Amino acid sequence: MLQGVQHEIIIIGGGPAGLSTALHLLQIAPHLTGQILILEKAHYPRHKLCAGGLTGDAEIILQRLGLDVSEMPHVDASAAHLDFAGKGLTISFPKTHALRIIRRNEFDAWLAQKAKEQGIEIQEGITVKNIQPQDDCVSIETDKETFTAQIVVGADGSNGITRRCVLPNESIHTARVLEVITPTQPSPKSNGFRGGREGAYFDFFPVPFGIAGYTWDFPTQINGEPMRCWGIYDTNVLAYKERPALKEPLAEEMSRHGLDLSQCELKGHPIRWFSPFNQFAVPRVILVGDAAGADGIFGEGISIALGYGLIAAQSIRDAFARNDFSFRDYHRRILLSPLGQALTIRTGITHILYHLHWAWFQKFFWRIFKPIVTLAAWLFVLNWGKRMK
Ligand SMILES: Cc1cc2nc3c(=O)[nH]c(=O)nc-3n(C[C@H](O)[C@H](O)[C@H](O)COP(=O)(O)OP(=O)(O)OC[C@H]3O[C@@H](n4cnc5c(N)ncnc54)[C@H](O)[C@@H]3O)c2cc1C
Repeated sequence: MLQGVQHEIIIIGGGPAGLSTALHLLQIAPHLTGQILILEKAHYPRHKLCAGGLTGDAEIILQRLGLDVSEMPHVDASAAHLDFAGKGLTISFPKTHALRIIRRNEFDAWLAQKAKEQGIEIQEGITVKNIQPQDDCVSIETDKETFTAQIVVGADGSNGITRRCVLPNESIHTARVLEVITPTQPSPKSNGFRGGREGAYFDFFPVPFGIAGYTWDFPTQINGEPMRCWGIYDTNVLAYKERPALKEPLAEEMSRHGLDLSQCELKGHPIRWFSPFNQFAVPRVILVGDAAGADGIFGEGISIALGYGLIAAQSIRDAFARNDFSFRDYHRRILLSPLGQALTIRTGITHILYHLHWAWFQKFFWRIFKPIVTLAAWLFVLNWGKRMK
């Protein structure tokens, strides 16, 4: 046994995936309270580049944890518009919002506070530097001290150290994403203020230009001030040799709405997306959230991270019950779960939708094919949260 501060379960990263794992563990294995430590390199409320769009699945998982996200600052988008060059399909629901938008500094701090109130220990300002699984424990080197644990959960995001240490040769599917925050602006499209309509817009016009993704424009708020969050997402599935520039198409879309990108602060961050062929565990170490893989079509990852938390908690509970820390069945558990099934279908759609990149196909898909696209999205892409047990 290696020396160091010892814990049963150490979770690396206190974003939605790590916090959800801890909260689900408390719910389904309360005897493990006091045995869980989260190591988080930042201090809450910490910045996280993200548009903050929460789907209904995220809200369902939070509700089952006894948490009501409406108690924190948010903006509700009444409709989500999925367009190709300004025209396409609209998703809305009679009595509720299509998308709830939060700011990640506020959301993650809120979730961390809930975890702390339930007895989870979170050590902030500790950066993990290395993870070494051994036969009887895992050693976790940090910038402060060395810890040992029976089980480590890698919840440290797309660029996380856990995956790089335990699965260094794993193939990587990484999307490029740029984001910018602007004041609400008059929109030629809506003939008024987009902020007033509170719609969330996704436009797939860049696909024929080799960008396998879309631009987005969401309502948001910062310190109570209505703002818009713009961005561009590229899965990179069309970037064979040269990666097309992302800034220009985003600038073009924003200029159509009277905004000048050069006046805004542009930030980027990758998103690692899911493949059913990925490995998600080695003995004593499992991955959750972006470290395991987010959705490929949209780069949606908050609800996904929350969902991984339940699967990880069930696997950890069973590992202690059986005294078997191999996590041999973690891959199967993910793939067979409603989340894993939705992610596998989404990965298939990602390849089909973006490889068929011609403008005529994209028009056909988003404009003409829309009843079928809406039904397929309802059945196979969304609504997995309700089926998670
Ligand atoms: C520009 C952009 C826009 C997005 N918009 C949306 C959206 O609208 N809706 C949506 O659902 N998803 C969106 N996503 C994806 C979403 O942000 C992620 O999928 C989600 O944050 C994944 O959660 P996570 O807990 O796995 O990882 P993270 O949220 O990245 O959390 C990882 C945590 O680990 C900590 N950490 C990292 N390394 C270490 C270390 N070495 N030691 C200790 N701690 C460490 C980090 O500080 C962080 O707190 C967006 C992503 C980007 C980049």
